[in-house]
Amino acid sequence: MPLPPWLEQPLADLLRRQRGHAVLLAASPGVGLLDLGLAVAQSWLCEARAADMPACGACASCRLVQAHTHPDLLVLVPEALQEALGWLATEDGEAKASKAKPSREIKVEALRRAVEFAQQTSSRGRAKVVVIFPAERMNAISANTLLKTLEEPPGEARFVLCTEGVDALLPTIRSRCQMVALHPPEPGMARHWLEARGVREGQVLLAAAGGQPYAALALVEAGVDASQWAALPQRLARGEGQAVAGWPAPLLVQTLQKLCHDAMAIAVGGSPRYFPSASFEGLRGDISALSAWARELSRVARHEDHPWHAALLADALVAQAKRHLNSPQ
Ligand SMILES: [Zn+2]
Repeated sequence: MPLPPWLEQPLADLLRRQRGHAVLLAASPGVGLLDLGLAVAQSWLCEARAADMPACGACASCRLVQAHTHPDLLVLVPEALQEALGWLATEDGEAKASKAKPSREIKVEALRRAVEFAQQTSSRGRAKVVVIFPAERMNAISANTLLKTLEEPPGEARFVLCTEGVDALLPTIRSRCQMVALHPPEPGMARHWLEARGVREGQVLLAAAGGQPYAALALVEAGVDASQWAALPQRLARGEGQAVAGWPAPLLVQTLQKLCHDAMAIAVGGSPRYFPSASFEGLRGDISALSAWARELSRVARHEDHPWHAALLADALVAQAKRHLNSPQ
């Protein structure tokens, strides 16, 4: 996927201004942080670009990065995200061999591997690049393992840390990186990008995803289209479980939280943020009942890793939605 237009300028600025061996890219989720991190890595490794310019996209090195097989690029993502992002750990069968639930953290073993990788001589003679996403998923031990290398980096090593929660990073890590903060794209640009990917009524899905274009695309990939989204409040108010049949629990809980947020906004005379206003026609929710629902949903969200029986959870959540969207004033 080519870099989205809102990341082109940040990439160009970063390549022009970057002086150290480590950069920290910070953004809210859904903006395309990992893609920017990879574009930075690809540019550093590119063998045909003009100085300070982005990667050419065509040289042997660029093709290796695109194929996820560049010998001088290591991408660290938590086990739980590896498959979805297409960056499987190449070594150690330990994760695959064990039956344990894939970790949501970037473990210390992975950081040790990265440090060792950074110390090796570059295979293609440009650099050794380590991309870490999301960097805030390093636990304290992992972060400290990295810290020593950031303090005294081996000659050819470069690091790109990508974070969606910059405040959760150790200050000592932050202070050793050149930080670049990314802003969410302007809505028109994001909508155009979505529509160029065949998404119809991009503005509805963009609102559904809180203005985050990658999150909107993920909704489409999960099988949700704009008209389905807009119909959800009415269908859930009627208790139609079919409307969310087969949804993964985290998506369902998140969607109900958005629905509850909007219902509360309307109950106090405000405007919805995630759903079109028309989606709430005829629905009445009482603000104190809705607040209780919001609290209940955050409780469920905190336990969404819990081995719920997905269908039972969905039934219970839909029944709850029906009750609260029809609560008497
Ligand atoms: Zn190139």
